[in-house]
Amino acid sequence: MRTVLASNNSSKLKELQHLFADLRIELVAQRELGIGSVAETGHTFIENALQKARHVCAAAGLPAIADDSGLVVDALHGAPGVRSARYAGDGATAAENNAKLVSELAGCEHRAAYFYCALVFITQAEDPTPLVATAAWHGHIIDTPRGNNGFGYDPHFYLNDLGKTSAELAPHEKHGLSHRGQAAAKLRQKLRHVLAGC
Ligand code: IMP
Repeated sequence: MRTVLASNNSSKLKELQHLFADLRIELVAQRELGIGSVAETGHTFIENALQKARHVCAAAGLPAIADDSGLVVDALHGAPGVRSARYAGDGATAAENNAKLVSELAGCEHRAAYFYCALVFITQAEDPTPLVATAAWHGHIIDTPRGNNGFGYDPHFYLNDLGKTSAELAPHEKHGLSHRGQAAAKLRQKLRHVLAGC
């Protein structure tokens, strides 16, 4: 089944292609089909993932998979949340977003946070029964960055049980534990059931 991935992130495409390889799903990135992006206006990760999926599904006339993810910090009432990519403003760099995160948490002892990922699959733009998989990955925010792997908030996301930040994990280690890896594994299970019934 040819399916559009509502993302142009090549590492996401590779990860998901690998994960869904035995499911008869051939994933193509939206850019390959000449489809532009859509504004993310939802208040939740699920709304944004569905918005992106509906947009590419309507444009391509093919089933679609989309994800939306971000960092949720307890002491910041859930911020940066769905604004994670643009926390310090539209077009902000990861360094600017991280600097804002550290400054908002100055003097705050409660550092609990989690990464969250919503991953959805729809067969048509108006699909009333999307497959939805969500997952969270819990950690703490530290002021001083550690590690060079990953992206975004990884150097400040500290995992107590491992004694490392997510930027100190090898890519395969991170994928096995992360919000995105967990959500992808759950979606894979749901897709297996659906495709087995075809
Ligand atoms: P997207 O869902 O890939 O667009 O990610 C949204 C934003 O959330 C990213 O730009 C990052 O700031 C943040 N984010 C999501 N997942 C991760 C992660 O695994 N590590 C670090 N930051 C992340």
